[in-house]
Amino acid sequence: MKPAPFRYVRARSVDDAVAALARDSEAKVLAGGQSLIAMMNVRAAKPDCLVDINALSGLDYIKVKDGGLAIGALTRHETVKRSALVKEHCPLLAEAYEWIAHRAVRNRGTFGGNLCHADPASENPAVALVTEASFVLKSAKGERTVAAGDFFKGVYQTAARQDELLIEVRIPSRPKGQGWGFVEVSPRKGDFAMTATVVTLELAGSNVKAAKIALTGVSDRAIRLPSVEAALAGKPATEDLFRAAGEAARKAINPSSDFHADDAMRRDLASTLTRRALTAAKSRCA
Ligand SMILES: Cc1cc2nc3c(=O)[nH]c(=O)nc-3n(C[C@H](O)[C@H](O)[C@H](O)COP(=O)(O)OP(=O)(O)OC[C@H]3O[C@@H](n4cnc5c(N)ncnc54)[C@H](O)[C@@H]3O)c2cc1C
Repeated sequence: MKPAPFRYVRARSVDDAVAALARDSEAKVLAGGQSLIAMMNVRAAKPDCLVDINALSGLDYIKVKDGGLAIGALTRHETVKRSALVKEHCPLLAEAYEWIAHRAVRNRGTFGGNLCHADPASENPAVALVTEASFVLKSAKGERTVAAGDFFKGVYQTAARQDELLIEVRIPSRPKGQGWGFVEVSPRKGDFAMTATVVTLELAGSNVKAAKIALTGVSDRAIRLPSVEAALAGKPATEDLFRAAGEAARKAINPSSDFHADDAMRRDLASTLTRRALTAAKSRCA
């Protein structure tokens, strides 16, 4: 199929882009086009106007700022995947990229576009939740920052308004001694996750000091599991504890069924992947 007719604006600056978004309430940002164009081709999206941000030179960067990473929204996936700064400051994100898409898609798709697309089976939203990332949004009216916990609202839904452009994602650097785990099952390598568990873990001696757990593929958006996290705190970081956390994860979620996996299989995956991610995280607490 071909997309419905649309107008096209090639933005030359961020101000130009936000002005174009403000002018037309049915306009949408075009970044890498790896999700949006596919949706337009099946007419699941019918924007009046595409505001193409690919000519903007100032939104493609990875730098260290205020004790964390600042990643420009237009940074291509492959750049994030290969970045030495990402490996140093957020090894969890680097590991997630071992699972995200294929090289051809990563060469074109962007970090910001991926997060704005908010696919419920996408890996990066879960990473953003456990790292407590924040999102800098700009419109013609000004700028605001939204915490990851408030950003993802549902299937393809975020807190970004139609007239807002995501310009930067800020990710706090990994605290010294914090371990991380990322475990996924997908139909084929490079496909969206059937289920993935993303974990950070801090120890005090041999006990859990703090754990953060997020799952993707089990709800209409990536979710944290606060009750499972709280149940880990202060307890000896043993395999038995991690197995119990996996069982608690199984009960805490309410996944739906689709042609990839039914709800029972997703609960099984959540349980096993949570245990494995916690075990991997413990081995990296140094
Ligand atoms: C074969 C294939 C396999 C894939 N596998 C995976 C996978 O395993 N995991 C995964 O997470 N993704 C996967 N993807 C999706 C891929 O990561 C896309 O690149 C990504 O979802 C969208 O990024 P984009 O830059 O292409 O955005 P676009 O497609 O251009 O836009 C997506 C949406 O975000 C909005 N948007 C884009 N940028 C901004 C911005 N700066 N501010 C405000 N709104 C914005 C657009 O308006 C649109 O609604 C796959 C895609 C393909 C084709």
